[in-house]
Amino acid sequence: MARRVVIASQKGGVGKTTVALNLAVALAERGRRTLLADLDPQGAVGLSLAKGDSELAGLAELLSGVVSPSEAVVATRLKGLSLLPRGRLDAVDVDSFEAEVARPGALDKAFSDCDGACDVMIVDTPSGLGRVTTAALACADFALLAFQTESLALRSVGQALKVVEHIQTTRNPRLRLLGILPTLVERERHGSHAVLSEIWNGFPDALETIVPRTEAFARASGLGVPVRFLGGEAGAPEARRFDLLADELEGRMNRLDGMERFHEAEPARQLL
Ligand code: ADP
Ligand code: MG
Repeated sequence: MARRVVIASQKGGVGKTTVALNLAVALAERGRRTLLADLDPQGAVGLSLAKGDSELAGLAELLSGVVSPSEAVVATRLKGLSLLPRGRLDAVDVDSFEAEVARPGALDKAFSDCDGACDVMIVDTPSGLGRVTTAALACADFALLAFQTESLALRSVGQALKVVEHIQTTRNPRLRLLGILPTLVERERHGSHAVLSEIWNGFPDALETIVPRTEAFARASGLGVPVRFLGGEAGAPEARRFDLLADELEGRMNRLDGMERFHEAEPARQLL
């Protein structure tokens, strides 16, 4: 079964969808069979790939039994990466979509029907920790919390952690916190170093990898592609950043799953 990673945040516009898409691409590039699922009623993943609201069938139709899992999952041009889009959804039907997603057991079944042939599933969620996101966490293995690197946002980390813990104890003991990911980091901005050190000192689960705020991400989402697909050197540093993130996250997942290979301690060496 695929490892399910849910990307969540308290606030909107912190780069969740950007992380979900580019992380899924990085994982597929390293040979993992990856499924990217869009749980946002706004269809954020589809939008960031420049797909209109009614172009792709997906989760909405799967949940209501109109399409089969193989019809809901879309192959992409990148080998190993497939997509479970939100599906066709009228704005007036958002409430019933959310209710379907939150129906006990429904999402777990839909995911299980789709992720059988995958190694990892990346789940993008709407902002806030409402019923859609909690339903996703209730059937996930890992939670990855994204948050914008500014001091106000630090306060919301505690709330998000509390929600994850609550779901662990009440609904899903399998769920583990994979990490806290600082996003939209403006390294030139006064005070951002202070916020980063606060995160690293205050939260042991904060990741070493950060996602900087750069023009390439905005350009890529404008064009409806992942940063790696911008071509040439444009987006190359950002793509490498996501390789590092994929590396760090896979290391953590292996450790949390007890799959880390313990090598015999190597003897200390001398260089000169
Ligand atoms: P969320 O899913 O949390 O609402 P998005 O990923 O949709 O956030 O990002 C919100 C906006 O910010 C989008 O226009 C996106 O292109 C832009 N954005 C996201 N991450 C970055 C980044 N690291 N640098 C620059 N712009 C970004
Ligand atoms: Mg989003």
